[in-house]
Amino acid sequence: MENIKQFFPIFDNNKGLIFLDSGASAQKPLSVINALDDFYKNDYANIHRGIYKLSDVASSMYDIARKKVCDFIGAGSPSEIIFTKGTTEGINLLASSFSSLLNAGDEIILSEVEHHSNLVPWQQVALKKNVVLKFIPVLSDGSLDYEWLRENISDRVKLVSVSGQSNVIGLKNDIEKIVSISHSVGAKVLIDAAQLICHYKVNVSELDVDFMVFSGHKIYAPTGIGVLYGKTQFLRELPPYQFGGDMVDRVSYDKATFKDIPEKFEAGTPPIAGAIGLGFAIDFINEFGMDKIERESLELTSYTISQLLQIDGVKLLSSSDANGVITFVVDGISSFDIGSYLAMKNVCVRVGKHCSEPLHLKFGVESSVRLSLGIYNDKSDIDTFIFELKKAISVIKGV
Ligand code: PLP
Repeated sequence: MENIKQFFPIFDNNKGLIFLDSGASAQKPLSVINALDDFYKNDYANIHRGIYKLSDVASSMYDIARKKVCDFIGAGSPSEIIFTKGTTEGINLLASSFSSLLNAGDEIILSEVEHHSNLVPWQQVALKKNVVLKFIPVLSDGSLDYEWLRENISDRVKLVSVSGQSNVIGLKNDIEKIVSISHSVGAKVLIDAAQLICHYKVNVSELDVDFMVFSGHKIYAPTGIGVLYGKTQFLRELPPYQFGGDMVDRVSYDKATFKDIPEKFEAGTPPIAGAIGLGFAIDFINEFGMDKIERESLELTSYTISQLLQIDGVKLLSSSDANGVITFVVDGISSFDIGSYLAMKNVCVRVGKHCSEPLHLKFGVESSVRLSLGIYNDKSDIDTFIFELKKAISVIKGV
């Protein structure tokens, strides 16, 4: 988007910075930085514990942040919003709690495009509970094989957990289809929205997903804050994930009872400032509107892809219909060499397997280069990137 860099001090403080790694973590707008500064300087105290004014103010700021998240994702009630450290913790929370409802022989369906965060926790559940993991294949155009899902769904499947948008392929998955196929046998659906939430308006009620997770730091909020959304009834059915202060109702030396959601899943002092910062990041996003962010990100992505495909030897791993995430390799050249050259030119891209090792194995590549766009990127960033990429290729090839 044009002129948005002015809201992000990092660009003033790093002249010439071309930041194309927002899928790893996004830069922070001044409004979020100032909100944290103000909170720590003026209003800081622990929440839901003190009977003094500062604690009241901090508690209500934390509660307001929860309501902002609820409205942002279209949840039914703020109590369906559980604050976590991030996507990874959200999935681990669910894997730990949900596994207590599973029996040997039950099945969990993931897809072939998952981030390690939505793979490794379920592998651990499978090991401990003798649960079978199955994977929706990815097709050559980057979409998931929904027919495979239709054929493989059965009442043994208890959970279908897939990313809303892969961090390598960049294509939005058909969540409505996944939900309708999964719900036809009573399987629950978890959407890993770590990337999806950055580029698309998401409404959990309209999508009818049972659980969804995302990280604040990828949508301009501080690190250390994330969200697990769950339908009230299902969150209530799950046992707590961690135990300790603030999540208990009554405690004696030999037993304890637990509070209702959301506190039941927020043991100990939560990331108070992070949650408040997330609320301000949502305000920032809402000023532009997710519709506009989605549209402009799509336009910039297709411009980037068209420019990339004009370069000899470039092969896209991401879908040609990707949004905000563009992954590629260059024939005969190491992705690390490309990334290192670009880094010398102040162009920040991600190089490696992007926490998706099995998918890279499937593609038959050791590593790839990934650009991921944020609200502050514009055409001139892409033009600089393409210019430097062409130079990188000729320097590395020695031509
Ligand atoms: N899932 C996807 C699709 C991601 O892209 C990422 C991070 O890149 C994660 C999960 C993990 O997010 P976090 O490291 O914030 O927990």
